[in-house]
Amino acid sequence: MSLASHARKFSAPPTDAQGRIPLVGLNPEELVEALAVHDLPKFRAKQVWHWIYHRGVRDFASMGNLPKDLRALLTEKYSIERPKLVTEQRSSDGTIKWLLAMSDGQQVEAVFIPEAKRGTLCVSSQVGCTLTCKFCHTGTQPLVRNLGAHEILQQVMHARDVLGEWPTKENAGEGRDLTNIVMMGMGEPLYNYNNVAKALKICMDEDGLNISKRRITLSTSGVVPQIMQCGEELGVNLAISLHAPTDELRSSIMPINNKYPLHELLDACRNYPGLSDMRRITFEYVMLKDVNDKDEDARNLVKLLRDLPCKINLIPFNAWPGSGFECSEEGRIASFARILEHAGYDAPVRRPRGRDILAACGQLKSASTRLRKPAESENPDAIS
Ligand code: SAH
Ligand code: SF4
Repeated sequence: MSLASHARKFSAPPTDAQGRIPLVGLNPEELVEALAVHDLPKFRAKQVWHWIYHRGVRDFASMGNLPKDLRALLTEKYSIERPKLVTEQRSSDGTIKWLLAMSDGQQVEAVFIPEAKRGTLCVSSQVGCTLTCKFCHTGTQPLVRNLGAHEILQQVMHARDVLGEWPTKENAGEGRDLTNIVMMGMGEPLYNYNNVAKALKICMDEDGLNISKRRITLSTSGVVPQIMQCGEELGVNLAISLHAPTDELRSSIMPINNKYPLHELLDACRNYPGLSDMRRITFEYVMLKDVNDKDEDARNLVKLLRDLPCKINLIPFNAWPGSGFECSEEGRIASFARILEHAGYDAPVRRPRGRDILAACGQLKSASTRLRKPAESENPDAIS
């Protein structure tokens, strides 16, 4: 299947159930074009943009400076509604997990993780995932579909709603809790690159959601062809789910390694635009007991990453029902970290957040299923 036909097959519905087109996710030029169909001048598009991304309104009726008949027209033809909140769970550590239903009922999770000096929203890019990393709960949910740019953005906008972070007349949006975005929710963002890119451009736009690219991190399991594009077009921070120091071990827990083996992946990392000691790549390494946690694995990792400006985040494995893996013991993780640190790498151990509500890394999964398994391959790289 070609990339284009994959994108079509798994795309978000173009309209909601009432036939309304989503306006969220259109870039400024597209918004102008959409409204020009109704003979509306550019300044109307500017006004609508401002209401959507500066004021966070959820319906056209609230757009006070638009004429009444225009508000009615927009309400009939377009949608700016948020996804429906299905459940909200709050962890004892302050983490909040939302299960959100899109207009066709498909569900994804988004997680807000408050910390002392920042607040990070973990955003999903797909319903399910084509990849089947053995340690990942999302990987047990076959890809249902890609999220549209509007559905990716709406997760951020929903979080701003709940956290009360839209600027008001009194408050210009200073002191927000939501400061950072990580594309580390459900799905592989680089297998839905176009929608992710569109959404992140609006997130980064000073006239959009205005979240700096320095505060946005995209995590990939290693879709090599899109890594360069991501660096060139978006310039966001890059995180790589590495999880093993050799091809043999990595392929056994991450099948994508058969397609893009380590030397190709690390070449792409070394060439990542903007890479420097100030802007390092983050390698994620999940600590799996007796699988990838030996001292020898750490030493191999040091060799593998030699001369690459990076840090290594050690992630204690987050258990989920039926995974078959266990988390490495604390002492083992400490010994592993010591070897990396002695070699000069930062190797922080990521403190698990929201484990009690299955909101931690790799625990996300929604009940959404596809009705029929597609006959063709789901993997966009299996291009015939
Ligand atoms: N698909 C992308 C982004 C989502 S996963 C990717 O794989 O990078 C976010 C991170 O959680 C990845 O590093 C992933 O490997 C890791 N992860 C998956 N399952 C995990 C688990 N059970 N415990 C800890 N981390 C996990
Ligand atoms: Fe998909 Fe990432 Fe989970 Fe692998 S780790 S199955 S790429 S979500």
